[in-house]
Amino acid sequence: MCKKFDLIVIGAGPGGYVAAIKAAKAGMSVAVVENIRVGGTCLNRGCIPAKAMIHASSLYEEIHSEANLLGLAVENVTFDYGKIVEYKQATTDELVTGIEALLDGNGVVRFNGKGTLEKDGSVTVKLKEADEEGNELISLEAGNVLLATGSVPSLIPIPGIDLKGVITSDGVFALSKMPESLVIIGGGVIGVEFATVYANLGAKVTIVEALPRILQNMDKEISQNLKMIFKKKEIDIHTGASVKSIELGGEGLIVNYEEKDKPAQATGQLVICAAGRKPNIDGLFGDGVEIEKDGKFVAVNDKFETSIPNVYAIGDIIRKTQLAHAASAYGICAVDFMNGNEPELNLKAIPGCVYTDPEIAQVGMTEADAKDAEIPVISGKFIMSANGKSLITHEERGFVKVVADEASHKVLGAQMMCARATDMIAEFTTAISNDMTVEQMLAGVRPHPTYNEGITEALEDCIGESTHTMPRRRR
Ligand code: NAD
Repeated sequence: MCKKFDLIVIGAGPGGYVAAIKAAKAGMSVAVVENIRVGGTCLNRGCIPAKAMIHASSLYEEIHSEANLLGLAVENVTFDYGKIVEYKQATTDELVTGIEALLDGNGVVRFNGKGTLEKDGSVTVKLKEADEEGNELISLEAGNVLLATGSVPSLIPIPGIDLKGVITSDGVFALSKMPESLVIIGGGVIGVEFATVYANLGAKVTIVEALPRILQNMDKEISQNLKMIFKKKEIDIHTGASVKSIELGGEGLIVNYEEKDKPAQATGQLVICAAGRKPNIDGLFGDGVEIEKDGKFVAVNDKFETSIPNVYAIGDIIRKTQLAHAASAYGICAVDFMNGNEPELNLKAIPGCVYTDPEIAQVGMTEADAKDAEIPVISGKFIMSANGKSLITHEERGFVKVVADEASHKVLGAQMMCARATDMIAEFTTAISNDMTVEQMLAGVRPHPTYNEGITEALEDCIGESTHTMPRRRR
């Protein structure tokens, strides 16, 4: 059996499925090869299920901490972990079904099986179930191939990592019982999001992070504030602490780590290894396929072309931003490039979001980045305690920061830690992508009462003083 397509996409995560739909809309005949379920890590084992669990656990925590303050009498609020898992699964399933329908509706042919790029440029698919002709292995031919197979969790090579009860983010979503205590290895994005879920639900949570601070890649003030908020939630945080081994004992498992050169231990029923992810390329390349690598990643140029003609790669298998929306954007651009078009999408500002409580979001440069790059900047900051909407919702702990070029006032970056930060950051993404200045961003009237008013105030602070901040000095 042989089928020909203008494009074969291997991997139907947010990178692959979006590219497939975009290509089909552009008139290409498209096939998608997916080994597990469409939606990839994002929908099945990442963003969507994680945010569903964060939503449920945050609401639970909020009812406990806020209801009385709002005059609500809510008693005996409990939770059923199994039902939280069911809600998470139902949310995921609904989205997956929607994407399958979208692919079908756009005429994209779906193959359920493992795809391998062969030396002659064809793609063989080891089908999960034999097709109507009884074939289990089929060969597809394409004008272009897009590799979008994403990433899988990395396990750190230490003794005890294979013990029962040591899981990765994939394992967390499969848990049917709530753990009473857990140790999280890694204080990156995955680590702090799971810490939020389980601390909200009342588990004893310990984070062990090798680097000097949690969320090391984010603005320093964000890391420091999150550490304080986590301490209030009684999350035990150890930074500068490298995990060396795991053994049985204590509440189930003991994590041995070194903190300031001294040996220490943390114990929990479960250990979540959230120490990064690696490209999912096992079995992706057939015999004799020679593709250039960039370390563990597939090497690409600015047009997402690999070293093999007409073979493109996007998403977590390339050395770029490892985020769902970045993968989608790269996929759209790759399809534009294969059709000889210049992409409209601007990839210079890709926001990063963390779904803690309060939310965290940043895009572009921090003040520290600008200093490193020797770019003179102006900056502005607004503390959300003077924002009406934040006071109404008791979310006044956050802030909005803006960084702009000193000479041109062009916005270079923004960092936020406040309610709805992950939605609001898009305003700055649009501004940076369009080279807008602080003054241009200030030209729009933001509605009242909204969290977005904090953006106006931070922008005002960049070039003078914000309205709702006490004057710094008497005039
Ligand atoms: P990460 O790289 O963000 O964090 C992993 C952390 O583990 C690092 O801080 C590292 O120092 C630490 N670590 C590694 N080895 C260690 C050891 N032996 N002892 C102690 N600490 C150790 O990776 P992640 O949190 O696993 O996330 C993986 C990817 O998924 C990232 O690219 C992330 O951006 C993405 N992701 C994004 C979101 C989101 O956008 N909200 C959510 C989840 C995941």
